[in-house]
Amino acid sequence: MGNSYLEKKIDILKGIGEQKAKLIAKELDLRTLEDLLNYFPFRYDDKTRFCKINELEDIDFNISIKGTVTQTKLVGLSYKKRLVAEIKDETGTIELVWFKGLSWIGKLLKPGLTIIAHGKPTNYNGKINIAHPEIDYLNKVTANKNIDSIIPVYKTTELLSKRFLNSRGIYRIQKELIEYLKINIEIEENLPLSIIKKENLMTKKTALIQVHLPNSLDNASEARKRLKFEELFYLQVRILKQKYSKTSPEKSEGHDFLDTNLLKTFMMSYLPFELTEAQKRVMEQIHKDMTSGRQMNRLLQGDVGSGKTIIALMSMLIPLSNGFQATMMAPTEILAEQHYNTLKPLLEKLNIKAEILSGSTKTRLRREIFAGIETGYIKILFGTHALLEETVQFKNLGLAIVDEQHKFGVAQRAKLWKKNVIPPHILVMTATPIPRTLAMTVYGDLDVSVLDEMPEGRKPIRTAWMKDSSRLKIFGFIKEQIDKGRQVYVVYPLIEESKKLDYKDLEDGYESIKRAFPDIQIGVLHGRMRPEDKDYEMDLFVRGKTKIMVATTVIEVGINVPNATLMVIESAERFGLSQLHQLRGRVGRSSKQSYCILVSGYKLTQESKERLSTMVRTNDGFEIANADLKLRGPGNLLGTQQSGILELKIADLVKDEKILVKARDAAKEIIDEDPEFIKEENKVVKDYIEILIEKGVDMTGIS
Ligand code: ADP
Ligand code: MG
Repeated sequence: MGNSYLEKKIDILKGIGEQKAKLIAKELDLRTLEDLLNYFPFRYDDKTRFCKINELEDIDFNISIKGTVTQTKLVGLSYKKRLVAEIKDETGTIELVWFKGLSWIGKLLKPGLTIIAHGKPTNYNGKINIAHPEIDYLNKVTANKNIDSIIPVYKTTELLSKRFLNSRGIYRIQKELIEYLKINIEIEENLPLSIIKKENLMTKKTALIQVHLPNSLDNASEARKRLKFEELFYLQVRILKQKYSKTSPEKSEGHDFLDTNLLKTFMMSYLPFELTEAQKRVMEQIHKDMTSGRQMNRLLQGDVGSGKTIIALMSMLIPLSNGFQATMMAPTEILAEQHYNTLKPLLEKLNIKAEILSGSTKTRLRREIFAGIETGYIKILFGTHALLEETVQFKNLGLAIVDEQHKFGVAQRAKLWKKNVIPPHILVMTATPIPRTLAMTVYGDLDVSVLDEMPEGRKPIRTAWMKDSSRLKIFGFIKEQIDKGRQVYVVYPLIEESKKLDYKDLEDGYESIKRAFPDIQIGVLHGRMRPEDKDYEMDLFVRGKTKIMVATTVIEVGINVPNATLMVIESAERFGLSQLHQLRGRVGRSSKQSYCILVSGYKLTQESKERLSTMVRTNDGFEIANADLKLRGPGNLLGTQQSGILELKIADLVKDEKILVKARDAAKEIIDEDPEFIKEENKVVKDYIEILIEKGVDMTGIS
């Protein structure tokens, strides 16, 4: 906006001294008038509509009622004393309750007086009441026609509320700012006029006025629509711009891998199974990318068990045929080991030298590996994030694959890019099926391939939800599976804050399973074990020596033991939905019927119940991701590393999908036609992006 008035500190507003300004900066991160202007209400209370008293329910927002005071009384002992006022309308009566300011309010609320009360109805001992409502006196309302009827509600903090900056207090200063701005300040439009017309949007200035000081609920919602559109539009413009610059038509040397000899040989002679149609399609897309002469930036999405590993292997063969190296990074040591162990025999058939590097690789071997990849003797390097260390220098890296990429941070992936003079082709793989709205935003600059088909013969996993008390039954079922020659996982939650307690759960669980199955070989696996012990235990399970694997979430992602057909998840209520889906995905990896038992306690929150019943209802990763998004919001679905970009001021990626799609289309149209914003009418876009960059609204690290 570049308006110098708005750059002033908020302490120029009435009633905001230096102290309060400091507190607001600390608590809400608002410093300038412009910051304040962009601090939007999250809701509006409509005081022109009154609820009927007999229809009130315990709900999570404020309502207004209009009624007559019938009586007031002081109840309770001295330290628990409260004032109760009874209000009556034509449908019934309700109690308003105060715990503070008793005598003052008692004096004001004379029986017979008609009042309007605003507050949150709460169920207290089976009766609805409202605690500490705000009161308007009707005679004042009618006397003063200017009283605001639609009141925006702002988020605030306890500390601010104590200093009279509750939602009302913030509203008061917003109002002062807006009244001034209305008359004295020009606010430049930052969307192209063509878009404003096409989408029928409010102008920027009107929207800012109406979002804070609406003269009707409709106007408030139009204002919000405009501001959300703007926010999402600029998010998308910047993502698409980045994508455009990454895939700009110039071809770069070292990105066209025309020789596919190894891949052909592999597919003809060594494929361990027939590829699914989806796998074939994805392979074609990847092959095309790698022969295009441009750098590939592709995301491979495929539900747990859809067969991503073989795609990784085949992709790596392409750079190898052309004299380049490849690397594949996994989030855990166990998973990196698994990749190495399952793919090595296939690679040996093709005479390809592969190695694995992790945090626990011994110094001597480490040195050999460093030398081997620098000379180019080692062609494929598997590993954990240890691969990212400076000391890992490739001779010529042609492809970097990141498995279970949602477990990594953006910065970590960016490091892979720099592993070669020419950035290598990038393939990131994930089983987290990201709903469309999120994918558009988070992976907007990647091309996406989807494995939407499971290998043949898979049967849907059957899931049951049982209570702690059914343990004998569960043990019986474990026994049945083992008698059939199958293997079983029993997983315990591990939550950082209470590690000690969790390990105790795991240990106790292990002991009780041992008692229940004295003749059966049982393994145990958790994060505190030394890497070589983990390998040893995992290896016993992979080879079918141990029948039951008692583990923490270290086995959450990627682990593939097709003979395991039962997953028991203890304290299942403590896991998130996508985590449960990942864990369940450890079974159902062959044509054998697999099962998942979710064990929970009795006392569950509504949200836990919903999570568990979602798991029982469906195996569909997309459906589960959508449910997760609704329950917990996008930050959780993506993992903390990626939630940063989702700190939107007004838009909501879940609720505002329609606006997002429109904003995305509008952004795409501009980028396609005028990527450098040369046209006169697109100049505002260019200017505004510069302002965003200046302000440090960083989008560069998205993917
Ligand atoms: P994810 O996509 O979860 O990483 P994996 O790549 O580990 O899945 O594959 C799961 C299992 O399915 C493995 O045992 C793998 O060998 C097997 N598999 C993969 N593709 C096929 C296929 N086309 N036909 C049969 N089995 C397959
Ligand atoms: Mg996998």
